[in-house]
Amino acid sequence: MPEFADWRKILMHDHPFTFLLEVVVRTIIMFVIILIALRASGKRGIKQLSIFELVLIIGLGSAAGDPMFYEDVGILPAFIVFLVVISLYTLVTRLSDRFVKVEKVLEGEPLYVIREGKLLTDAFKDSGLSQDEFFAALRVSHVEHLGQVRTVLIETSGEFSILFYPDEEVKYGLPIFPDKLQEKLNSHGNYGYIACVKCGGVRSGKDATKLPTCPECEVSEWVVASDAKRVG
Ligand SMILES: [Zn+2]
Repeated sequence: MPEFADWRKILMHDHPFTFLLEVVVRTIIMFVIILIALRASGKRGIKQLSIFELVLIIGLGSAAGDPMFYEDVGILPAFIVFLVVISLYTLVTRLSDRFVKVEKVLEGEPLYVIREGKLLTDAFKDSGLSQDEFFAALRVSHVEHLGQVRTVLIETSGEFSILFYPDEEVKYGLPIFPDKLQEKLNSHGNYGYIACVKCGGVRSGKDATKLPTCPECEVSEWVVASDAKRVG
């Protein structure tokens, strides 16, 4: 039989089938160690990981996986890796609680994307977030157009913190649902208010004789602005 079709080798390498039993025992031991280690790290359930926590998980993950099924990797060295990684994590977490600078280096800083109702387009460059992704995240949080939103902050965990205007203060803003956002105006008409698709800037659509160029970002793609309230 040619070597590429040697199923015994593909499935078991050179191990006897009894090695599978050893894998079961190794996995149970590592499972318990992972559980104890993660509890010891003090973390609760994990929804969003900061970069630093991701490093922790990757470090533990690779140390945890190998001894489960590599015969020549012992469990004790993996256990030491766990001890060291968790100790480092605890130490650095304490340092970053104590020193703001350490925290900034490790976790980054929260970043404003909308501040007092204004879209800060530079935030997209700084965060690696695209405008499409941003609008999608707002839609999931029941935002229909940017005039409803006073502040959006991207937390270091990657989550969005959103503050809304009360209904009576909702302004005209750029609609962010795809059907409205893609209805770009191609000629001037009597639209009330229009919004720039790039920066969300709003201006009167009544007084110009042709579609203006946005003074903020110098493109001239506009859609009809919305002032819909959040709740009916
Ligand atoms: Zn603009």
